[in-house]
Order: sequence, then structure tokens, then C-alpha cells
Amino acid sequence: MNTVLVTGGSKGIGSAIAEEFASLGYAVAINYNKSEEKAKALSLELMKKYKVPVGAYKADVKDRNEVAHMVAKIKDELGTIVILVNNAGISTQKEFSQITNDEWKVMLSTHLDGAFNCTQEVMHDMIYRQYGKIINISSMWGVTGGSCEVHYSTAKAGIIGFTKALAKELAPSNINVNCVCPGVIKTDMLNIFSEETLEDLKNNTPLKRLGTPTDIAKAVAFFGSKDSDYLTGNILNVNGGFVI
Ligand code: NAP
Repeated sequence: MNTVLVTGGSKGIGSAIAEEFASLGYAVAINYNKSEEKAKALSLELMKKYKVPVGAYKADVKDRNEVAHMVAKIKDELGTIVILVNNAGISTQKEFSQITNDEWKVMLSTHLDGAFNCTQEVMHDMIYRQYGKIINISSMWGVTGGSCEVHYSTAKAGIIGFTKALAKELAPSNINVNCVCPGVIKTDMLNIFSEETLEDLKNNTPLKRLGTPTDIAKAVAFFGSKDSDYLTGNILNVNGGFVI
């Protein structure tokens, strides 16, 4: 069975990506760190709805041992991973001068060590099979930089560099590495903003609406499909025209 691993798949954008791949007939591994109940409930829901194997797998993506253990368990239970979606992420808004050393490290580690750990753990099977798709979730702030989000913007810009360099290195093994940069997408990550700020963000979006997790999932599914076999190292903005 072809298996997809979605990190941070318990909710928000990750859960929409998990659903999209389940609807396409893939076995789906939903990674979670804190949201165990949500991940397990989503697994049951997707299995019932799409009649494909789906499982919830715990790992803090920052922790290499946890990631290695998770990947081994997924291979055992669902089969070899052919698509990896590095989606797990956190965000906070803080003036640069107020960011503590720990906050800086956790931000970079969640996004960058997370992508590093998960990719290294799954890539050997992809190289062996001479096939694989790796899709990284960055952000429009990784492209433009966001005020009061220097740590987040730095991590997300890193994901773009990671995508481009890895795409070149893995292309001879027929592994595509691409990146999706969401704009403002309605998930728990926006809970830090007031209704007024969200309204402003909507009004500043040329398509005049905030994005949905499904908007992102559709783009990710394209990069996971054979239709994108000749695309690698791409950075796709899915943001309603907010950044062009
Ligand atoms: P969300 O609803 O807050 O979900 C974040 C997900 O990341 C959760 O499933 C969470 O899992 C997981 N996660 C966080 N730290 C983790 C860790 N150490 N190990 C494993 N999983 C971890 O946010 P979202 O909006 O869906 O964000 C998904 C991705 O899109 C992130 O990379 C985010 O930066 C990016 N993005 C979002 C927006 C937006 O406007 N929403 C815009 C641009 C980019 P647990 O709850 O189980 O810990």
C-alpha cells in the first residue's frame, strides 16, 4: 500500500491534507504530538469514510528518536512511506527584542529539525525505490518576512532553502521535493488574532477571503500526484493573492 505521512496531521491544515490523501485512496499516517484524541478520532473518521488504512502516530518531530520509532511503526503497520508532508509547526507573535533564547530555539527546532528528522528517516526507502514525494509547508512570511514574527519567518525561510537544496540532491533518485507557502488560513494558529485583525487580513487579500485548510490540501495533493512528476524545487504560494 502507498502510504503518506502527514506531520502535525491531527488538526488544521494537516488534517485537511490527511483527508485529501485518504480520499485519493492512500494509507495515511497522522502524526501528532499533543493532540492524541483529535488524531485518533480523525483516523477513525477517515477510515470509515474512505475505507483506507489510517493510523495516529505520536512523535515530537523535534526529537530524532521519537521520529525514528514512529517511522518504523508506520512501516510495520501501514507500509512504506512514499509521500512525506512536513507540516507540523507552531507560531507566536513577539517583538524581536522580547524573543527568549528558548523561544528562538523551539521555533527553529520545530520547523527545521522537524523537517530534517522526518526527511532523513523516510528518504532511504524512497532512494531504494527510486520514487518519492516530499512536500514542505512554509509560509508567505518565509517569503516576505513578517514583523513581530522574526523567529517564525526565519524558520519558514529556512524551509524554502531546505526545499530547493534537497530538490537538487534527491532529483537523481527520482524524488520530488516541493514547498507550499500558505497565506492566512483559518485554523487554530489564527487564534492569536482579534476578529478585527482577521477582518483586516481578509480585506487585504485580493480574493477577499481567508484561506481554508482544504485550499492548501489541494495544492499539496497536486505535488503528491503523478501530475507533478516534472516539478521539483518549486515554492508555490497559496495565499489568495496576498503576496504575489
Ligand atoms: P495548527 O492548527 O496550530 O496545527 C499545528 C499542527 O502542528 C498540530 O497538528 C500540532 O500537533 C503540530 N505540531 C506542532 N508542534 C509539533 C511537534 N513538535 N511535533 C509534532 N507535531 C507538532 O496550525 P496550522 O495552521 O494547521 O499549521 C500547519 C502548518 O501550516 C504549520 O507549519 C504552519 O506554520 C503553516 N502555516 C499556517 C498558516 C495559517 O495561517 N494557519 C499560514 C502559513 C503557514 P499537536 O497538536 O498534536 O501538537
